[in-house]
Amino acid sequence: MKINHSEIVISAVRPEQYPEGGLPEFALAGRSNVGKSSFINKMLGRKGLARISSKPGKTQTLNFYDLDQKLMFVDVPGYGFAKVSKKEREAWGKMIETYLTDRDPLKAVVQIVDLRHPPSKDDIMMYDFLKHYEIPVILIATKADKIPKGKWQKHMKIVYSALQVEEGDKVVLFSSETGLGKEEAWAAIESFM
Ligand code: GDP
Repeated sequence: MKINHSEIVISAVRPEQYPEGGLPEFALAGRSNVGKSSFINKMLGRKGLARISSKPGKTQTLNFYDLDQKLMFVDVPGYGFAKVSKKEREAWGKMIETYLTDRDPLKAVVQIVDLRHPPSKDDIMMYDFLKHYEIPVILIATKADKIPKGKWQKHMKIVYSALQVEEGDKVVLFSSETGLGKEEAWAAIESFM
């Protein structure tokens, strides 16, 4: 898939703010710094989608991006900030949970993990959460260019076993640096549209 035009529709916190129109939505989730912005930019074939950064301390919002009026990417603030307070974490959790469990146009969650490291506790918790609510998941193991090709399979195995990836779920080997996995990731997304 090739996207010509992408634009932010809204930064939402509450369900009343979610956009109408019913375009299929794909939420992007991952711990902060995992490479989510880079993934989005690579998928859209551009350097800088005007994204709203979600730094600690800033209001955490769900950012809805319209892609050619065909689908939406919903950027979910990164999890696993050590610095946020318990209260902030709870608010974050509630916002995400409400969206993920109760949003009709949501087709799948694109969960991004770092191929270099074993999935974190938060990665595992997110995957388990999605499984619990039977929300379809597309797993992306990014930063593949940072490890030698000969070790990819070993690292993929670690991802599969740590997350206990269910049969039928896909893990796409990805690199925002080289574009590895881009077509496969789009094909996975399109299979849910
Ligand atoms: P985010 O916080 O999840 O949005 O992460 P970013 O996309 O900002 O990426 C965090 C850091 O990892 C940045 O320095 C990126 O340049 C780097 N990065 C992200 N993806 C890749 C990748 O596929 N390969 C390499 N080598 N670096 C990456």
